[in-house]
Order: sequence, then structure tokens, then C-alpha cells
Amino acid sequence: MRFRRTTASAVTALLTLTTVGVTAAPAAARGAPLGPTAYGYGGAVSTVDPTATAVGLDVLRRGGNAVDAAVAAAATLGVTEPFSAGIGGGGFFVYYDAKQRKVHTIDGRETGPASMTEDWFRNPETGQPYAFPEARVSGLSVGVPGTPATWASAVRKWGSRPLGSLLEPAARVADRGFAVDATFRQQVADNAAPFGQFESTSELYLPGGAPPAVGTVLRNPDLADTYRLIARQGTDAFYRGALARDIVATVQEPPVAENPLSPWQYEIRGADLRLSDLANYRLRHPAPTRSTYRGHTVYGMSTPSSGGVAVGEALNIMERTNLSSASEVQVLHQYLEASALAFADRNRYVGAYTPQWQLDRLISDRWARQRACRIDPGQALTKPVPPGDIRGSGCTPAPVGAPVSDGKSTTNLTVSDRWGNVVEYTLTIEQTGGSGIVVPGRGFLLNNELTDFNFAPTQGDAPDPNLPGPNKRPRSSMSPTIVLKDGKPFLALGSPGGATIITTVLQILVNRIDLGMTLPEAMAAPRASQRNSAGIPAEPAFRSRYEAGLTGLGHSFAADVPELGAATAIEFRRGGGLIAAAEPTRRGGGAAGTVRPRR
Ligand code: GLU
Repeated sequence: MRFRRTTASAVTALLTLTTVGVTAAPAAARGAPLGPTAYGYGGAVSTVDPTATAVGLDVLRRGGNAVDAAVAAAATLGVTEPFSAGIGGGGFFVYYDAKQRKVHTIDGRETGPASMTEDWFRNPETGQPYAFPEARVSGLSVGVPGTPATWASAVRKWGSRPLGSLLEPAARVADRGFAVDATFRQQVADNAAPFGQFESTSELYLPGGAPPAVGTVLRNPDLADTYRLIARQGTDAFYRGALARDIVATVQEPPVAENPLSPWQYEIRGADLRLSDLANYRLRHPAPTRSTYRGHTVYGMSTPSSGGVAVGEALNIMERTNLSSASEVQVLHQYLEASALAFADRNRYVGAYTPQWQLDRLISDRWARQRACRIDPGQALTKPVPPGDIRGSGCTPAPVGAPVSDGKSTTNLTVSDRWGNVVEYTLTIEQTGGSGIVVPGRGFLLNNELTDFNFAPTQGDAPDPNLPGPNKRPRSSMSPTIVLKDGKPFLALGSPGGATIITTVLQILVNRIDLGMTLPEAMAAPRASQRNSAGIPAEPAFRSRYEAGLTGLGHSFAADVPELGAATAIEFRRGGGLIAAAEPTRRGGGAAGTVRPRR
């Protein structure tokens, strides 16, 4: 359960900006406080956090481009949203270059150490998979972070400012402090037990042994120093220098407190991550996934994310049916069925090493025909549905696969600039709070991304594409998406939420394109997430609005989930108009702004 950011705390956040005097202050001072929706021109920023959005807008107003602003905003999120993002994690950066009219990607996914084996998450004594918290809060879950390399590479290739100058506003926020809001406090409270195991984490986030009160100014001078070290020495400091040594020591022997603040029932294990694993980290630049949907071209992230393939496949399946005069319930029925089918295929076929021909097949119209033939407009399929037969062509599926679990938290941001460049960037440390381990003296949390691997085979007799292996990247669901229409950007969007990211992105697209909602309506609308399970997890408002119609078609619902996702997006209108949108209420509400607000 999360709390809404109250007006008071939104004001506190803005006041803090002014009192701490970061370069972002003018951005906030220039107009009304940053709300969830903004209309205007000349570039835009949408993130989950007003400080990060203000920093991004300030970079744009000072002449920086979308890549500069995205990196500065992401670095700020590493301070103010440290439980979802930061240099201890990874992510996927999707960039539309207006001059080249081309979409590029950076795969900055965390990577397993060379020593990683298939049974990494199984207790050697019992052969049984570890309980999730035992795997998460350990060195075993920590992959080599890709985020510092992502920022450096994005700025080098497409930015116009040195990385150091883009880290400085975030370093200042870390130095001078920011006001704790209700979402932040709640995230600490939810993590009090794991955070309490490590002095490095509890000193920072459990001052006096308890979560900081709303309104407290929280400082992180260690992180400010870390950012400035990277500013001076470049990312070598992180992958080969002092930071690399500290990361390796922390993972090999997690710094468990002599007197932990609270009980923890699991052993906290170290793992064999070495300096060579950090030194050998490489970004990848896979071609984006590409599919078309009702006159739009949809670009997404390829493997190791399953996001682009799954969103593309589900849209292709939906496109088999003309929905122009369909009822809202029928459109949602098609959405839920397409999503279940796409998830069955993702679980069976998609992982870091899926051959390109299989990815191409999954996102082809031929495959969509092969899968859509299973959908009945009057009756929901029994879930879980089996995956399709990747070597076949008929409607007969392959033997059944199983649904798989999902992660918890991440953050997303969307930026555009006056030249028409667009960045869609999802970054994460996996669970809210990552592994729970702050690197002592360095001020950032290490990810637990490696728990995105399956701990044991999930696909019966068929191979599981997402088992651990040496130097392997775990499958992700992150779906940073850029949609073009008539060859120009139309919409950029993304969200956190583990495997529900795929359905959140899909549902916003369906709301906008098929149901004709405006972008802010499409973002606010209640969500449901059919990931190929018998009961559909849905927000309470979705159930009260559509349950009767959808159960009439044979769908059934699982227990309510309070909220799904925390999306950000920008829509590009004719004549250069922009609609920047963040969540009105989920995860406390987000912050969107434009360079030149519409009067
Ligand atoms: N680790 C998840 C993934 O890569 C993201 C976690 C989340 O967004 O909650 O798919």
C-alpha cells in the first residue's frame, strides 16, 4: 500500500529545491509546481519525481539536449528514488535521433559473474531453490551494474555536455539534501528488516533506527562524493578503480552488522564476483524491436528484455481484429487474451540467448495469425494458455509451459528536446530497495537483478530460456517504447512494475489508440494485468468498472492489487505541441513539465 503525495509534501519538495539552491530551482520557480500533466513546446520531461523533472528541464532550458537531460534526471533519481534506480543497477535506454530519423538502444542490463552456474540460486546442501528473500538479500543476487556505463555511453554518442556536468546537479541534491515524502518513507518502512542488517544501509535510510519522518531533509554526502569521483575519473573509477574494489568486497562478504536492527531469518550469503567481472562489463546496442500497429510503428527493447517482443506480439495479435466499432469490454477482452498468449510465448522462448530467427518469428504477422486463431470474441481461453509451436504454422500449440513470477520496482523517464530527439529510459535495481546492501562509504544500493533469472526450470520438458549462466543477463520485462506515426514521433512511454510493465505499456497504447482516450486519460485509467494466469490481477477501479462485462466472457479475477505501474510518457502533437504525462496518483503521483509551458 502506498500513499499519495499530499499537497503539503509536494510543496515541501519544491521548497527544498529552492532552499538547497540546486540549479533546478529556476525551473521550479518559473511556473506552477510540477503536476502529473503538462502542455507546451520546446522539449519536455516526465519522471516520477519533481526534483528529477526539474533538473532535466533545467538542462534543456540551458541548451542541453534530450540525452543530457535524461542522464541528469536519472542521476537525480539515484538520489531521490534510490530504492528504484541508481548506479548500482541497470536499465535500457531507447533514443530517437531526429536528424537520422533512427531509433537506437543501449542494453545496460546487469550481468552475472563468470562464476555463475545454473544452480546459483539453489542451496548446495538441499538442492532446493532459496526462498526469495534469502536470494535477494545476499551477494548472489548482485549483477555487475550497467547504469554508469549507460550514462557515459549515451552522453558520448549523442549528448552535448560532459558527463561530469550532468552528475553535478544530482551531487548537489545529495549533498544538501531533499525532503522525504510519504512514498519514500513507506519504501523504507517496507524494507526495514533487510536494511537493518547492514550498517551502511541503516545509517543512511534508518536514521535513529527508524524510517525518516515525512518532511525530514535527507542527505547522502557519500553518493555526492561518488558522483564527483566518476565526474573526475570517468567510469573507470567504477569498473576498474576504487569503486570496483569496494563493490567486489561488498558482494563477496556482505557487511552484515554486528548488532542488526531487526531479526532476519535467513543466512546472508556472499558470492564469487570478481574485479575481472566489473572490468569485463560491456554494453550492448541491439537493434530495437519493430512492429506496426494500426498505422503506427512501435519500437521497443530487444533481448535480454522481453518487453519489446511481448508488446509487439500482443499488438500484432490484436491487430488481427478490427476493433473500430467494438465495445470497451470487447477491446479489453482482446487485450487480455493477446497479453496471455504473448506471455505464454515469452516464458517459453525469450531469454538472453534466444536466436534472432525466433525473436523475428514471435514478432511477425504470420505468428500473430497462428496465435490469434485461438481467440474467441465470446469466450475467454482457459489459462494458462500453452505457448505456440515455434517450428509449426497451424493453430495447435506446444505442450503447456508455466507462468513465472515477477519483480517489484524500477523507475522510468521520458524526455524530448527542441530538436525533436526523444529518450525513453527505464532503469532499475530490481526490487524496491534492491539487495538492501549499500556499498559502505559510497552511498548507493546494489541491485538484486540476478533474481530475475528463474531459480529452477519452469518449462517442463522444454528448455527454459532464463536460467542462470556465466556472464549471462537475466530476462527483463522493461519496455521503453517509442511509437512513430507518419515517420515522426507520436508517443514515447514506459513504466516500472516487473512483468506487469509489459501489460501497463500495452494497456496505455490500447487506451490511447483503440479506445481513443487522451494521453492523460490513458495513463490514469484503471489497469489489469493478464500474464497467463487463471485469475487476472487488477486494480480495484478496473474491477468495479469492467468485472461484470468481462466475467460474462469467462474471465476471472485474482485478488486486487492496489496499483499497477508508475508510467511516464510524452505525446507529440502536430505543430510541435507536447503533452507530458506522469501518473496522477500511483506511487504518490509523478511530475511532468515542458520547456515552454502553454499559457
Ligand atoms: N527487474 C525487473 C525487470 O527487469 C524490473 C523490476 C520492476 O520494474 O519492478 O523486468
